[in-house]
Amino acid sequence: MSKTTDTNKSLYGLSPQEIASLIPHAKAFRGQQIFDWVQKGIESFDQMVNIPKNLKDVLEFEGWGLFSSSILEEQIDEDGTAKLAIRLHDGKVLECVLLTDDKGRKTACISSQVGCAMGCTFCRTGTMGLIRNLKTAEIVEQFHLLQNRFGNISHIVYMGMGEPLANFKAVQASIEILHNPRGVNMGLRKITISTCGIADGIRKLAVEGPHVKLAISLVASDNELRSSVMPINNAYPLEELKSAVKDYQEQTGRRVTFEYVLLGGVNDSRRDANRLSDYIRHMNAIVNIIPWNPGAELDFKAPSGEDVRKFTEYLTQNGVLVTRRYRRGRGVNGACGQLATKNK
Ligand code: SAH
Ligand code: SF4
Repeated sequence: MSKTTDTNKSLYGLSPQEIASLIPHAKAFRGQQIFDWVQKGIESFDQMVNIPKNLKDVLEFEGWGLFSSSILEEQIDEDGTAKLAIRLHDGKVLECVLLTDDKGRKTACISSQVGCAMGCTFCRTGTMGLIRNLKTAEIVEQFHLLQNRFGNISHIVYMGMGEPLANFKAVQASIEILHNPRGVNMGLRKITISTCGIADGIRKLAVEGPHVKLAISLVASDNELRSSVMPINNAYPLEELKSAVKDYQEQTGRRVTFEYVLLGGVNDSRRDANRLSDYIRHMNAIVNIIPWNPGAELDFKAPSGEDVRKFTEYLTQNGVLVTRRYRRGRGVNGACGQLATKNK
């Protein structure tokens, strides 16, 4: 790929109105037109064939450009899951993943931060600490780098590195761009934000939107255990988290997914299953069981296939809806932070 643009000067992070404001003397529709081109994933101004050259020159002269990030490394699993290490303009590295399901539908799993401050003890990204928030452009660019490389993407999940609700504004703006009907036009029902449970952020999203699907990384359904593996639970204990999720559902009417990373011998007993069932009773919810993925120095045990099967059965017996979505992708994605840590 050609030279990268400064992150603050990437057109990928701008709405049609924002682009229009860069060229105040041009006809009003030019901002929209340029946006349309950018959101096709273009790499060069030459590709914008119906935009007058003098406008492109103005943008270029003022330092505006396209991709601020580039692909550093690519890794493809046997099952087709692809992970890209992406080099940002300041040399920091993040990763994003492309998951392909049985029907061939492609999901982009994108990052919202380099590293993460939340410190969940079972997560490799957590061990990095927060390095920095991503800019809107850097989030949108991940989608286009994946799509340019692997073809049409039908779903987006904010489940890569970082806590999306801890980088609220940039994540919100990136969704507005990717949802724009003139651009990628990704439906809000096809976008999922996964959060460790920042209740205030969930409430803010309920009020401000966009009303995407919500996934909550629950992992434990009693406060003592949850606080010991997810420190955020000290700030927003289970009761408060539930009340925020209920608010969100009242606003949006959407089913929520509870992600349950199964940690061998820690949260996989029948008692854990019963507690989880009680916690989500009377909610429009589904549980996504994610067998823990071993990551280097982390002190947990992956559950056996039999443990996963039994836990799933306990939940089903309790009438809970269960899925193993993203299971295949976990091979690569559960090792979140691995590539980035290696390349740092
Ligand atoms: N910060 C957000 C989104 C990124 S983490 C969140 O926590 O939801 C994406 C998912 O990967 C979360 O559900 C998290 O619990 C899970 N995860 C983290 N480390 C994992 C590991 N080693 N094995 C399996 N899943 C893991
Ligand atoms: Fe951060 Fe999510 Fe990992 Fe927790 S699970 S450390 S919130 S990325």
